[in-house]
Amino acid sequence: MAGKRKVRWGRVAILLSPFIFLIALLCTKCFNGQNPAEESSRPKATLEGSIPDQTGSAGNTPSVPENKIYTVVIDAGHGGKDGGCTDPTETRLEKDDNLRLSLRVCEYLQAYPRVHVIMTRTDDTFVSLSERCRIANEANADIFVSLHRNTASNASGIEVWINNAPDSPNSPIERSLAGHICELLADVGVSYNRGVRTGFRDSEDSSYAVNRDTKMPSCLVEMGFMSSDIDNSNFDRRLNEYADAIASAIMETAEDTNLMYTPDSES
Ligand SMILES: [Zn+2]
Repeated sequence: MAGKRKVRWGRVAILLSPFIFLIALLCTKCFNGQNPAEESSRPKATLEGSIPDQTGSAGNTPSVPENKIYTVVIDAGHGGKDGGCTDPTETRLEKDDNLRLSLRVCEYLQAYPRVHVIMTRTDDTFVSLSERCRIANEANADIFVSLHRNTASNASGIEVWINNAPDSPNSPIERSLAGHICELLADVGVSYNRGVRTGFRDSEDSSYAVNRDTKMPSCLVEMGFMSSDIDNSNFDRRLNEYADAIASAIMETAEDTNLMYTPDSES
């Protein structure tokens, strides 16, 4: 029999090595693209300024499932003609700080699965207190969080206000919510944790309108004093961390109080 050729494996290996390298490189890229830990896999935040359309055109709201579970209203205090309080130079307005923080909280919340966020405003427009409550009540929201900043002479720190209605069924949830917010903000770092407070400023006999007239558990967060340089500096440097903390506190409250995550959809 003629010419049984001897295969030179060494030469074959040398000839094929560039192709093997190329295939290995492509496989690595594919694997990395599917890595669930990648930042890009988090749902992209979207903002809503009014009651959401529940009928289905939610193509750009990937974190809102058809069977939405947990509706959170984030209320940026003041806006438009109502500037709120100011810093000592009167160039920095509370309404702007409230909106900056609210937009960031919204983004962090929408990174969680099955959370539906509604904002009472997403730009510098005036929204009345009754309208803010109406938006939350008509959406049948599960939680309402109003974000503000404070002012006073010689004071600093954060505080969270809840209704002065200890017999209300919402009260334990509100205490949990406000407690978590204070705790997680303090973990980030605040000039002073003034804690959970009930009622309205110095009066135990009334409540903030947004707490009183919303049907769901609610709180009003005072994110430091605009009259305090330390608090303003903290607010600017730690905005993202504060927003993350508030979003985390809202989620922890939901888990503590069984407000969300029905057993059949979460193993
Ligand atoms: Zn305010």
